[in-house]
Amino acid sequence: MAEKSFLEAELEDLRTRCERVVEGSKLIACVPQVVQVKITRTSFKELTAHFQFGPDYPASPLVIELKSKPLDFKLLQGLEKICHEEATKYLNKQQVIPLLQFIRKFIDENPLCVCRGELAHIQQNLLQEGDTIKLKQKSSQIHLMVRGGPYFIKMCFTVPDYYPLEKLGVECADHNFPELFKQNFIGHCVEIARKSVEPPIRKNPKAPPFEPKPSLKAIADFLFTDCVKRYYKEPCAACKAHALPPDPKDIVKEPRADNHIERVYCGHIYHHKCLDTYMKTPPFTGGKKCLSCSNRIYHEKWSITPEVAEARWAHKQAKDRELDEVIDFLK
Ligand SMILES: [Zn+2]
Ligand SMILES: [Zn+2]
Repeated sequence: MAEKSFLEAELEDLRTRCERVVEGSKLIACVPQVVQVKITRTSFKELTAHFQFGPDYPASPLVIELKSKPLDFKLLQGLEKICHEEATKYLNKQQVIPLLQFIRKFIDENPLCVCRGELAHIQQNLLQEGDTIKLKQKSSQIHLMVRGGPYFIKMCFTVPDYYPLEKLGVECADHNFPELFKQNFIGHCVEIARKSVEPPIRKNPKAPPFEPKPSLKAIADFLFTDCVKRYYKEPCAACKAHALPPDPKDIVKEPRADNHIERVYCGHIYHHKCLDTYMKTPPFTGGKKCLSCSNRIYHEKWSITPEVAEARWAHKQAKDRELDEVIDFLK
């Protein structure tokens, strides 16, 4: 009977104090069979703790089960385990409130818990030798370094408290790609982050209502697969020779130089000279298509309409003919 009265007293204490001393808590059930408390920091950082008490409680630790819709299952499993260890510190004492405070503190001090599933994807499926990921729980940041041969890009992602309702912060901390490549990469990443939280301006009436969604996984997939691990070995789509120099120090910076690397809209790359020749050679009908994927090439350096390209080409041909005639004449 002594144990029961201890528990009864603890439950009574819980009813009067719990919601006051554990921030964001809501007591759902409070009976000797089970105590259920919901803890909410944001709608994406909320969980329900279920406590059960053995016959010799509080001489034994309470039994904890954590449930959450938004939080990752593996995270909850890990948290259950450390909660169990924590409970053993309170043997023969009231355990519920200290445990609830412990859980609340964990959520507060580990803001990256909202993206544990996305982080696991990066670690298990994307990270290769030479790549690194560092989690900075204090500043809620993820430092990611991705390498592709001699090339690398270092990213810093900031996960806001209300992620994924709020937009993921995306910054490039360092890189050794051509500047335009980096601008394209980061621009695309920022765009993925933005589209994940902002509804499209032009709504598709058939589309389901817009809901903000996480963007870290999509951004990491793009960075690893479509950027860093791709370009160092990608050939020029026209001449098929290696495009980016094996040593990043040899990157050609002069934008009109023959070996300057151009990245076109579809993502394929060309030597400046190869692309220039191709863009100025017919056929022009329907615009010039990428030699790798047949997508229309859009590039600011060759932003003329097919008609203008055709006219220019004809003009150049005429000039060349004139020149030939002059040369013939001189023979
Ligand atoms: Zn080429
Ligand atoms: Zn292409």
